[in-house]
Amino acid sequence: MDRSAPACVRCGKPVLANRQQYVLFEQRHWLCFHLDFEHQGDPDEPCSDPGCPWFHLDVFKAELRRRGADPDAVVAAAVQSRYAEAHRPTKATTQRMAAPRFEVEQILPFQGEVYIIARLREPAGFRLEPGCTLGGVTIRPWLTQPRALGISGEPRLDVYAFVLADAADAARLSEGTEVELSEPSAV
Ligand SMILES: [Zn+2]
Ligand SMILES: [Zn+2]
Repeated sequence: MDRSAPACVRCGKPVLANRQQYVLFEQRHWLCFHLDFEHQGDPDEPCSDPGCPWFHLDVFKAELRRRGADPDAVVAAAVQSRYAEAHRPTKATTQRMAAPRFEVEQILPFQGEVYIIARLREPAGFRLEPGCTLGGVTIRPWLTQPRALGISGEPRLDVYAFVLADAADAARLSEGTEVELSEPSAV
C-alpha cells in the first residue's frame, strides 16, 4: 500500500489516509485540496468553509470551555500521556512492572528434588525470594543456569533451572507451557 501510494500534486507527499478519494480531491491530500480550492485567506486561520479543520478546532475549543475545561490543559495532558507511553517499559523498570515469563522446557526429577528447566521469554531482570512461585508453584529461593547448549553449540544464557520447594508440585506444571515468576507479595 505504502509503495503504491500516489503522490499529492500540491506537496509531493504520499496520499495515504484519503487514497480512495485521490481523484475526487484532484490528486491531492484532502487538506491540500482544501487549501488549494476551498480555503480563503490566511491558511493559519479558520475560513468559512464548513470542512475547514481550523474552524473545527475553534468549535471544539469553544465547546470545551463551555463545559468548564481549559483546551490548553486538555492538550497538555494529552502530550504528557503520549510522552509516558513512549517511555514505558524498558529493562530497568520491567522487573517491577511485569512478572517475568518463562517457558517450561523440562521437568527433571533429580536426587529427590525436581528441577524445572525454563527459558526466559523476554530479557528481564528478576531475583528469587523465599515464597516465589513459578506458574503458581512455590520454588526454592535459588537457581542455577545449566550449561545448556543451543543447536549451534552456544551456551543458552536464557535458560534457568529452578527447584521446586515441594517435589510433589511437579504434577502441577507441564513441559511446553508458559509460566510466570511471581514474587511472594504478588501471589
Ligand atoms: Zn498534499
Ligand atoms: Zn479553511
